[in-house]
Amino acid sequence: MHTVTLQSLSLHIPVLESREPTDLHAEAAGLSMGPNAQTLVNKYLDTDESFAIPSPGSQILGPAGAVIAEIPATFWRGLRIEPASKRRGSNAPARKRKRPSESFVRKEPTEQKIHFSAPLVIAADGARSALRAQLQPAITSEYAGYVAWRGCIPEAQTPEPLKGALEGKLVFTMLGGHYIIAYLTPGPTGSTKQGDRVFEWCWYSPSPAGSPSFAEIMTDTVGHRHNKTVPRGQLRDEVFHELIHKSKDPFVTAITSHRGSASTFYNGKVFLAGEAYTQFRPHLGLSCDLAVLQALTLREALTGDKTMAEYEKAVGDYAAEFSMRSTAMDHFGLTGKWPEGYVPLYAKKPT
Ligand SMILES: Cc1cc2nc3c(=O)[nH]c(=O)nc-3n(C[C@H](O)[C@H](O)[C@H](O)COP(=O)(O)OP(=O)(O)OC[C@H]3O[C@@H](n4cnc5c(N)ncnc54)[C@H](O)[C@@H]3O)c2cc1C
Repeated sequence: MHTVTLQSLSLHIPVLESREPTDLHAEAAGLSMGPNAQTLVNKYLDTDESFAIPSPGSQILGPAGAVIAEIPATFWRGLRIEPASKRRGSNAPARKRKRPSESFVRKEPTEQKIHFSAPLVIAADGARSALRAQLQPAITSEYAGYVAWRGCIPEAQTPEPLKGALEGKLVFTMLGGHYIIAYLTPGPTGSTKQGDRVFEWCWYSPSPAGSPSFAEIMTDTVGHRHNKTVPRGQLRDEVFHELIHKSKDPFVTAITSHRGSASTFYNGKVFLAGEAYTQFRPHLGLSCDLAVLQALTLREALTGDKTMAEYEKAVGDYAAEFSMRSTAMDHFGLTGKWPEGYVPLYAKKPT
């Protein structure tokens, strides 16, 4: 995202990535895009081809499948992006780009150190960021006490009570202490045509840290214990439910979060971006929106339209508000009630 916005300033941006391109799978399945992501797409990417499914809102179902509430689309819920393999990359022509600039992926053996100098460094190396470990060693991602099971089936097999998903709705099934969110996403080829799309589900289910069940869930088919995600195709048969059996390549992720205390360092020369800076709990589908806000605002800071102090404030305020809101959504999903005094976005009066 930073590459997209900063390339429009004709900057040369080397990208250092530790994984091979073939290992870069989109593990978050069907991603929702918030308002900042929509701004980035409209401003900097060619949007002629259909790559997203608009969402008119959310539907809340009780344990027996009856509709309890319909929540219209709010300003932040809208689009779902296609699989990474089909997403337009940084080499796609950007409308506002002055001239093409270069971006590359550099792979080095992990044991070797490489030296690289740059006037500006953006560390977007994820929730377990190596750079954050040096800059803010006290901030670490904490396990939230529950896991997210995810999988998908062809849209034609969508279960009857969950058919709201076929209209683009996010369907929440509240199960008392756990919940499932279901939605439609573009199919494996990226097609958004009816019939090609897939029905995805994400089941948030408690599993206390240190419990035997957690250890069992996070251990894969060859006995390797994972910290964060047991990837597609490596879940052991005995750990999953019948619903999961019916899905193709289900996988499980331990949910973690952390809140960074600063995103700029060394006088605006080093930045922590995305989950390297702050990791939301995923319930609002807004995690990437923070990284996009950073990418859009950093561009403004580099062109002089904003000061670095304004950058830090805009990013810090957003991280604080949506860390709180995603934790409130987690409370609602697992207990059926909002935290005392909390006003959800859809109920907020316009200012
Ligand atoms: C169940 C679930 C549902 C979600 N749903 C949504 C949603 O609907 N919408 C949304 O916006 N978000 C969602 N998210 C969150 C979203 O997936 C993450 O916020 C996002 O992937 C984080 O992006 P990132 O680039 O900050 O980090 P990452 O995706 O972790 O990328 C970090 C990259 O840095 C590389 N790297 C790491 N260390 C090094 C190093 N030392 N040197 C070089 N490279 C390195 C890694 O290989 C990786 O490619 C969801 C998450 C979960 C778990």
